[in-house]
Amino acid sequence: MGDFFERIVDLEVTGEEAGPLAGRMVDWMADAGLITRETTRDAMYSLSVDVGYVPGPGWARAVADSSDASWIPGPVAVVVGRDHHVGGQGESEADSATCPRCATTTVIIDYPESWEADPEAWQPFLDGIEDWKETGTGVAPCPACGASSPVTDWEFGPGFALGALAFDFWGWPPLGTRFLADFRRRLGHRTQEQSGKF
Ligand SMILES: [Zn+2]
Repeated sequence: MGDFFERIVDLEVTGEEAGPLAGRMVDWMADAGLITRETTRDAMYSLSVDVGYVPGPGWARAVADSSDASWIPGPVAVVVGRDHHVGGQGESEADSATCPRCATTTVIIDYPESWEADPEAWQPFLDGIEDWKETGTGVAPCPACGASSPVTDWEFGPGFALGALAFDFWGWPPLGTRFLADFRRRLGHRTQEQSGKF
């Protein structure tokens, strides 16, 4: 099951803090035996990094249930840099966007009428997200209340997240709640968990 992933996205870290924080998280996971410090290109599908850390002897402590032998955990990729992260099977748009000011949800993909993003609805978000990736700041206007808010304050639903640091666990079974809580505490930030298939 090498092309399935479990992912943790840090929703709050800045581009400048992401690298040092990534280093500390790798140190912690390696010291805990969840990963090794050895890297591999095998079974890696992350889009912006070529190598991931080989699982360590204690990898099973990070997952909810390690008894299903069909799961063979693969590398853990550390993705540093402002980017959007999508779960599921690689859609690159959000399903919806909820305004941080007025809480109105703008529909981007009108399931089940459509399985594709409405380009007119998505474009202002895409523009803001591109600005954020390039400069660290980007805004999108709300069609309902007219307020422009930072794209990182919008809520894009469970399968789409913006963040400057993400961890892709390739081929790992679903991560355990205790591990996730510990992971979030060590990041010190809000996170989004995603899973999907490349
Ligand atoms: Zn609004």
